[in-house]
Amino acid sequence: MKEMPNVLWLEEIKKEDIISVGGKGASLGEMTSLGLPVPKAFVVTAQAFRRFLVETGIEDTLFRKLERLDVDDNGALESVSREVQDIVLSVEIPDQIREAIIDAYARMGENGEVVAVRSSATAEDLPEASFAGQQETFLNVLGDDDLLDAVQRCWASLYGARAIYYRAKQGFDDRGVNIAVVVQELIRSEKSGVMFTSHPVTGEPLTIVEGSWGLGEAVVSGSVSPDNYVFDLRSERVVDRLIAEKEIMIVPEGENGTKVVKLTPEQRTAPVLSDEEVARLATLGKIAEEHYGVPQDVEWAIVGDEIFILQSRPITTIRRPEIPRAGAEPAPEPAAALGVVLLEGQGASPGIASGRVVIVRDVRDTSTIKDGDILVTKMTNPDMVPAMRRVKAIVTDEGGMTCHAAIVSRELGTPAVVGTKKATKILQDGQVITVDGEKGTIYEGAVEAPAPAAPAAVAVAAPAPVITGTLVKVNVSLPEAAKRAAATGADGVGLLRIEHLILGLNKTPGWYVEHGEEEKFISELYSGIKTVLDAFPGKPVWVRTLDAPTDEFRNMEGGEVEPVEHNPMLGWRGIRRDLRSPEQFRMQVEAFKRLWAAGYSNLGVMFPLVNHPAEFVQARAMMKEWGVNVENVTLGVMIEVPSSAILIEDFIRAGIKFASFGTNDLIQYTLAIDRNNEHVADMYEPEHPAVLRLIDHAIKACREHGVECSICGQAGSDPDMVAWLVGHGITSVSANIDAVPRIREAVARRERQILLDAARRNA
Ligand code: PEP
Ligand code: MG
Repeated sequence: MKEMPNVLWLEEIKKEDIISVGGKGASLGEMTSLGLPVPKAFVVTAQAFRRFLVETGIEDTLFRKLERLDVDDNGALESVSREVQDIVLSVEIPDQIREAIIDAYARMGENGEVVAVRSSATAEDLPEASFAGQQETFLNVLGDDDLLDAVQRCWASLYGARAIYYRAKQGFDDRGVNIAVVVQELIRSEKSGVMFTSHPVTGEPLTIVEGSWGLGEAVVSGSVSPDNYVFDLRSERVVDRLIAEKEIMIVPEGENGTKVVKLTPEQRTAPVLSDEEVARLATLGKIAEEHYGVPQDVEWAIVGDEIFILQSRPITTIRRPEIPRAGAEPAPEPAAALGVVLLEGQGASPGIASGRVVIVRDVRDTSTIKDGDILVTKMTNPDMVPAMRRVKAIVTDEGGMTCHAAIVSRELGTPAVVGTKKATKILQDGQVITVDGEKGTIYEGAVEAPAPAAPAAVAVAAPAPVITGTLVKVNVSLPEAAKRAAATGADGVGLLRIEHLILGLNKTPGWYVEHGEEEKFISELYSGIKTVLDAFPGKPVWVRTLDAPTDEFRNMEGGEVEPVEHNPMLGWRGIRRDLRSPEQFRMQVEAFKRLWAAGYSNLGVMFPLVNHPAEFVQARAMMKEWGVNVENVTLGVMIEVPSSAILIEDFIRAGIKFASFGTNDLIQYTLAIDRNNEHVADMYEPEHPAVLRLIDHAIKACREHGVECSICGQAGSDPDMVAWLVGHGITSVSANIDAVPRIREAVARRERQILLDAARRNA
């Protein structure tokens, strides 16, 4: 390393400098050279760090300690890490380096007094290696002393236990790993968000901008539903906007932190961006996209009139391969470079996340889970939902795309891989892994993905401005997901699974009956459903009555009395259980009645697992007896047992107002393939001719009699299946939150094809 200064300004950074400034510094430098408005920053170079080690005389002691360390000995790892960090922190920064930093800081200018100090580690032999998230970042740093202290702490963090372990496992020699530190003006964003420079699903030239008030963390973490703007790069105008109800913003607080602030009623519903701001952002996004040659996922912030670009990275959700433009840099290989593959399963919920493994054998183990850990278990249970909310990713041994873990993870926007068969055996507590919920792969170590998990942003990213004749609805299980679901622009909720809501209470419905606490149950149910209805004003919301197999109830309070069944999938669940447990059914009906009385006429009720029209007739009669005006409300059934598809005409005669295919069950009951059993998962075939024939038969009958016919099983999130269903005349489809944009696209494409074919035939 020769003659590299201690400090480099972003403007001075060239591509080759990655080894001196790390990946983060290099990327900020590159964006600056494109003329993008990146907040002012300088980088304390890797060479400055190296000189610090040499000139203070600590280098040899430090590396000797590391060389002797067995990283698999946890105790030794922790104590050597502490010792080495203490050494780095105990010496004075040599004068020359100290002056260079203070000098540069003085030149940051008036606005640059408060800075963010971020680590950017770099490996000599593999400059592109990413050590993201393993070293420290300090926000809100002010004054020379605090700045120097923050820089020194970043240096020390290169020897955090996790970082040492990761490098050892990846075969990096500590002597060849350095650290640069980015000192950047802290942007106190008044508004911020992300933008996809092209449509994240179809790749069309539509820039999707999401924005909310305050720091971008709110959007990236999914804690607010942001406004969503679509800018058409061809016509150069905003072609769609969805102003979300934003409840909170995140603002900087204290030394290092942030806090959540409630928004005023005016801010909540006010548009975050003007058309002019959207256009300016889209223009900047275009510059990045053209430079990198692939659509970008860009983080932005606005203060007053000034736009800042904070980060730009390739979008990974576009499925079609992009053809790189002439002269452009080749696109980075997504995920291929992520590292050693430990395990594979089914990618059940998209997104990539890294963290520490916590193996959960029993719900009591969830107490050791910390925010940001990765939950590894045989199969999740409803009583694990609180823990599932806290983790960064979920991995299970069992299950397929429609198991509990898959459904809840998609809803929470948490990456998940299910059906790995042996995760709980192969992975170890405390081990750091990376989960790719799209590909279904688990990698060793914490590896930065080309586009880190920002599931919420992806999920609400793309309400493509397409109107479809076939309604495109969304499935919801947790009320907290309602806003994200609504932000997709879906035409209603085709399935609200209330058992997830009830099971989250951790007491069985029977417990409430037994303890005379029915009112509590009813009001919980009322408010959970109301949250979803409120997010979809004027749009149909089909709430399904309870459908939890006995094994899911067993771990809850009151679950001791649940019968043990040989095959709970074929057992006491769905409408058959409600009909024989009138107290349980009645509590649900009471909640519906109150909602109808409160004016929510868009609430429809759907009965699960019906296998004979008599069940529908009986359920309706019970509702009538309890005071529901059954003629005036919307009651329908799930078609998820072959018998109900075969007898569809009898159901229609019995008076159903709609039918919805629960293909998750319909497939398992038609093919005798347990949907939760990974040993037969490869035989679980949604497009099996018998399944398609049943569906086709039911659609035809519904069309003939003018009854709405829909789908809410997982197959409704598969574009090919949906195209087939539209071709066969389905009237609506309901998809998972993350799938709504691509399903809308598939529906639109198929509908246009049908029109085109008809026009050609008539020509
Ligand atoms: C289905 O069976 O397709 C369905 C939507 O219901 P669940 O997945 O809750 O059984
Ligand atoms: Mg079902």
